[in-house]
Amino acid sequence: MSKVKVSTQTVIKQVERYLMGNYKRLPIVIVRGEGCWIWDAEGKKYLDMFPGWAVSGLGHCHPRVVKAICDQAKTLIHVANVPFYSVPQADLAELLSTHSFGGKVFFCNSGAEANEGAIKLARLATNPGRGKIVTFFNSFHGRTLATVTATAQPKYQAGFEPLPPGFEYCPLNDLSALKKAVDDKTSAVMLEPIQGEGGINIADDDYLRDVRRLCDNRGVKLIFDEVQTGMGRTGEWFGYQLSGVVPDIMTLAKALGGGVAIGAMVAKAELADKLVPGTHASTFGGNALAAAAGIAVFEAVEKEHLLENTKKQSKHAFERLAELKAKHTVIKEIRGKGLMIGIELAKPGAGVVSRCLDKGVYINCTHDCVLRFMPPMIVTKAQIDQGIDALDEALTEEFGG
Ligand code: PLP
Repeated sequence: MSKVKVSTQTVIKQVERYLMGNYKRLPIVIVRGEGCWIWDAEGKKYLDMFPGWAVSGLGHCHPRVVKAICDQAKTLIHVANVPFYSVPQADLAELLSTHSFGGKVFFCNSGAEANEGAIKLARLATNPGRGKIVTFFNSFHGRTLATVTATAQPKYQAGFEPLPPGFEYCPLNDLSALKKAVDDKTSAVMLEPIQGEGGINIADDDYLRDVRRLCDNRGVKLIFDEVQTGMGRTGEWFGYQLSGVVPDIMTLAKALGGGVAIGAMVAKAELADKLVPGTHASTFGGNALAAAAGIAVFEAVEKEHLLENTKKQSKHAFERLAELKAKHTVIKEIRGKGLMIGIELAKPGAGVVSRCLDKGVYINCTHDCVLRFMPPMIVTKAQIDQGIDALDEALTEEFGG
């Protein structure tokens, strides 16, 4: 039943009655999005500097994505992967392969599912006897049982025991710890080039080169979880391109579908060929509608020069944020790449987020003290300024000058 006008309180009551309570939400109902803007049911407009939890990398309802979805919906929405081929899936796989390291693609529906696939593929390639996956403290790889175990943060695991065996954790950027963890039982090392949920922690280029060498020497697969860093977020198509360290497997989701659910695992061809019929599958994986949206994302980034814009706006944002750091002693560090920016505070940041919202600007806080400023790739200089001006005021109100 479609409703013309909704009331915030009605929706909240409905959600409380009919939805499970696993999401902590603000009393705001979003009813429309366009570009960098979202509107709530009361008509308030917000500048969205964290659109869709890094999903809406092109902003909301990008016209190319909207058109591609509408056109595709009239032609073919879904066809099963067995026994048929479909055109958009083939085209999107080619785009992913040719824009990265020439591998082959498996499509699924989410980041967790892409990472599950990567873990399975690595084990398939290295078993029998080598099933251990080494991951990193403060990582985030998803909420399925295997990926939440790969996510080395106890707060996400508590209560879900027994967790699947075969995972070991290391501190990021510590090569000697990794050397100890990687042994003759190890199948793969899995990491985010920049940890997102864990607080925007960057894996150093030199460290990544050493990790690659270690994996090569010990016959271990290297998996990069690019669910958050992929599709242009860092100013390159994929985060690995910042360091030039090429993984054996790369996982993607979030921004890949411009808002439509799609995930992907890209693997070097010799590894990918292990996934023969019967080994792995996903009913919806890479269906025509989602793949058409993904193709539109590639077109938008290329035709609208959005990698260039990401780099340009990133430079401006980092300059403005450096001014803020000089002014607000509560800011400990500003770090990130492209438009994946973390502002680490000496104190919890939740109050700053809600003050920004009052001013009509939405940003995120992760890991208690790290504000995340991740505008879409279409963002303008004026919008960056508006977001940072609001943050400046919010920091003053919350912590003083
Ligand atoms: N990997 C990374 C790096 C993520 O940031 C996330 C989600 O935030 C995931 C995996 C899980 O993705 P999804 O929620 O689509 O399963």
